[in-house]
Amino acid sequence: MSLSENQRARYLRNVLIPGFGEVGQESLANARVLVVGLGGLGSPAAYYLAAAGVGTLGLMDADTVEVSNLQRQILHTTADIGRPKTESAREKLTALNPELKTETFASRLTSGNAADLIVAFDAVVEATDNFEAEFLINDTCVSLKKPFATAGILSLSGQAQFVVPGQSACLRCVLPEAPEGVPTTAELGVLGAIPGVLGSLEAAEVIRWLLGMWEPQPDGAGLVHGFDGDAVRLRTVRVPRRTDCLCASVWSTT
Ligand SMILES: [Zn+2]
Repeated sequence: MSLSENQRARYLRNVLIPGFGEVGQESLANARVLVVGLGGLGSPAAYYLAAAGVGTLGLMDADTVEVSNLQRQILHTTADIGRPKTESAREKLTALNPELKTETFASRLTSGNAADLIVAFDAVVEATDNFEAEFLINDTCVSLKKPFATAGILSLSGQAQFVVPGQSACLRCVLPEAPEGVPTTAELGVLGAIPGVLGSLEAAEVIRWLLGMWEPQPDGAGLVHGFDGDAVRLRTVRVPRRTDCLCASVWSTT
């Protein structure tokens, strides 16, 4: 397959990037990415994946749009209040890029459906708002050896990590169990631009991986990117992989 004239024009700024080219654009067109959560993080992530030309997006969220979502969840507008987020998201993303194929899942990710769903995609964007879903995505992606981006946000801060099972530390290498008593955005708020930064970072990491630009750390460490909105500073911390972690089973050597 080669790019049409329209595609050449649309994706010109992509293919000009060193190492991207028309071959990279074609690999994005063939890619399937699942976005779990269509809120503050999922909005920018899905927008940038669709804009970049990822061929198929799975869009998963069980919620409907509420007025309190609109200060950060930029996929949705005032007119969407009361509509399923999956429908609102599909409408905006296909308006942005009519070539995008979407598959919508207006349900929650559970231990019963996670593996069947995730196995059908090349990569996952974890954009949920709770540790239970984050760890479910981590454990399912590790067992299926699917790469995924994960992020969390609160107030003026956030962090993101991209995990390639068997090549980089997973979420449980960083945080073995879900911590208790962590405040939520419903308690301490969040500035909309913060998930904007972290969700964009998730999209960039997935795209880099789809293009073959992602490279593991020599020792298999994970990189956790922390954004401190108080000081407007991005700090990357190397987290070693744990040999007693559940992800150890998918490494070729331990
Ligand atoms: Zn691990």
